Amino acid sequence: MGNREEHISLGMAIGAPIIIGMLVGFADSFAAGLWQALLGLFLLAVGSVLPDWLEPPTHWNHRQENHSKETLYGTGIFSAVSIVLVILHDSAWIILFGLLFGYSLHLLLDSTTKMGLPDE
Ligand SMILES: [Zn+2]
Repeated sequence: MGNREEHISLGMAIGAPIIIGMLVGFADSFAAGLWQALLGLFLLAVGSVLPDWLEPPTHWNHRQENHSKETLYGTGIFSAVSIVLVILHDSAWIILFGLLFGYSLHLLLDSTTKMGLPDE
């Protein structure tokens, strides 16, 4: 568990329907929604692998602050905030959601492994 392909596929399987659904519901126009979807999906994939770029898994103790439970709380909360901003303000916030939600899903998947996540 926990290799790059698994992180990207889990991110896409859970994040892509949310991104597409939010844009169908809230984008100002088809053109705006299309480029926001492409950028959002790209950053979803980037966010899904970003923790392991920041802390490469080359050492048994590679999970530090970028893999912590505190970071998961933060990215989770700001993912939710970005959804609220899409609904109340502008659909372009879905791009930030993609990055944060991909990052959250990476940590969520890592938390199911034997090593788990450090507290902070
Ligand atoms: Zn990781």
